[in-house]
Amino acid sequence: PETKTTFRRVLLKISGEALMGDQGYGLHPPTVQRIAQEVKSVHDLGVEICMVIGGGNIFRGLQGSAQGMERTTADYMGMLATVMNALAMQSALEGLGAYCRVISAIRMDEVAEPYIRRRAVRHLEKKRICIFAAGTGNPYFTTDTAATLRANEMNCEAIFKGTKVDGVYDKDPHKFDDAVRYDTVSYDDVLAKRLGVMDASAIALARENNLPIIVFSLDEPGGLRGILAGKGTYTTVR
Ligand code: UDP
Repeated sequence: PETKTTFRRVLLKISGEALMGDQGYGLHPPTVQRIAQEVKSVHDLGVEICMVIGGGNIFRGLQGSAQGMERTTADYMGMLATVMNALAMQSALEGLGAYCRVISAIRMDEVAEPYIRRRAVRHLEKKRICIFAAGTGNPYFTTDTAATLRANEMNCEAIFKGTKVDGVYDKDPHKFDDAVRYDTVSYDDVLAKRLGVMDASAIALARENNLPIIVFSLDEPGGLRGILAGKGTYTTVR
């Protein structure tokens, strides 16, 4: 098994939907458990880990507003959904013996720590996994942008974006047999070709700070650990 990695500190971004398993909604505890194990195995290599988890398995602001809800209220509901996911992940990680803090961009002191940058950095130095919840704390953003923001603030070397496919393709590989995967692709191409890695504001923020985004498959067992050791297939956006 791989034991070496060149990464010292990374941010792992997963969508809320990654936690719902085959269900159409919500949290699927065995799936949360499986991802927690992946994270733990990388943490055991000595890598400092930040996590951002989306909320789309519970609530998306855009969906709510499409149904007539006021947009900012709907977005706050989406942010609260990410807190639930973060707590589920914290519980799974702690069950595996990994120390972990949930840090919320919206204050709710009984539930999670408030976001204080230096304090979060200290947690990482002490090898505590930090799950950044409630997105950026602002409506009209996504958790992809929150991930890029926190990765920059925490001086992460890269964002690892876990998806359903093993990288970025020129077209949807689930629909087209001749879809071609990029080994590397530039931020500009992702934006110009609308490759759908992350939303445009997240890509722009990564580009401005030269933060690589590594897109890999979460469905591959041991995938995250392998990729941190430079194995497996993935796409680097840089
Ligand atoms: N959200 C927000 N501001 C943020 C992050 C998230 O308003 O900084 C809201 C937004 O409504 C979004 C929802 O939270 O739809 C869930 O986040 P996201 O859609 O990014 O989750 P994912 O698609 O990754 O599961």
